[in-house]
Amino acid sequence: MSWTISPAVDELIKKALAMDGLTVEEAEHLLTLDLCSREVYALMEAAAKMTRLTFGNKGERHYHIGLNVEQCRFDCRFCSLTPSAGIFTEPVEFSREQVLTWARDAEAKGADALNIMTTGTYGFQKLLECGRYLKAAVSVPLVANTRDISHKEGEALLEAGFVGCYHAVRLGEGRDTPFKPEARRHTVQVFRDLGLKWMNCVEPVGPEHQKREIAELMVFAREQGATYSGVMRRINFPGSPMEPHGMINEREMARMVAVSRLVMGDVPRAHCTHEPNTAALLAGANLFFPECGSSPRDLQADSAKGRGSDLDRCARILDEMGLDPLLPSNCFGPEARLHAPGPCPSDLYAPLRS
Ligand code: SF4
Repeated sequence: MSWTISPAVDELIKKALAMDGLTVEEAEHLLTLDLCSREVYALMEAAAKMTRLTFGNKGERHYHIGLNVEQCRFDCRFCSLTPSAGIFTEPVEFSREQVLTWARDAEAKGADALNIMTTGTYGFQKLLECGRYLKAAVSVPLVANTRDISHKEGEALLEAGFVGCYHAVRLGEGRDTPFKPEARRHTVQVFRDLGLKWMNCVEPVGPEHQKREIAELMVFAREQGATYSGVMRRINFPGSPMEPHGMINEREMARMVAVSRLVMGDVPRAHCTHEPNTAALLAGANLFFPECGSSPRDLQADSAKGRGSDLDRCARILDEMGLDPLLPSNCFGPEARLHAPGPCPSDLYAPLRS
């Protein structure tokens, strides 16, 4: 049986495999292909190949720890931690002892990073304090996930022990959130200026988003040197203002993960998706976020008791797909490609190596 695909798509795949990245227009085109087509499966195959080639068999687990629950006054429309969502009426702040217990458990289970998330109004000094006590207690790299910051605040994060920040210019920024996209982009520049690693995801994707705006965020991540930049879909909690739009399914998300991987080329050190799923691992993802503490997608104050997947479950899924969660992380070492190419037949990689 022959396997032919459109010459135009074939050319884009070849360009991506040469690690040359894709333009916004090229990524947009790939995002509009028929989801059932051979072309889309070819995108996923190429993306998975790129990931095995650049990241080896490493499966990353970056443990999300949400420090607090409150009715965040910024009221982003996709977030469950808002007055509009009406889910949480009482603030919750997880104790230092609880956060340390989560962190030590994560270290014992081989987590590759701790992503410390706060709501948009959480005290910055308290985040710094958390960085200091975690830095003293565990050796897992610390990543902050908080509001826009200044250079001075970025320096303080570094001093407190953080090595990077998760920060997305989100889909619908300025429309579904009160934040200016320019301010979010400026914060990414702050990270670059200071040497804080920038962790990103194109998120929270819903069916209402234009392929163009999705493609633009993918290319922005490549241009700004994101340490990783995959795709996360929006989760509609019950009563979410976004419920009328529906949600994309994991199959659509896998296609987007693949296109994002083709765009990113040899810039990133991992490729993320959320929530954990196998389809994305067939399409170039190799990084999951297990979760505990607060989450903007959950109805439970502690996501470990709600939607969150734990470290063991994430490890099992990675293992089922031939990725090893216990190899050293590629995200924090001096070299981007620490591991040998993965387990697929080596002749597949020969043209890429030559
Ligand atoms: S996404 Fe962040 S800033 Fe927006 S409402 Fe939720 S916690 Fe607040």
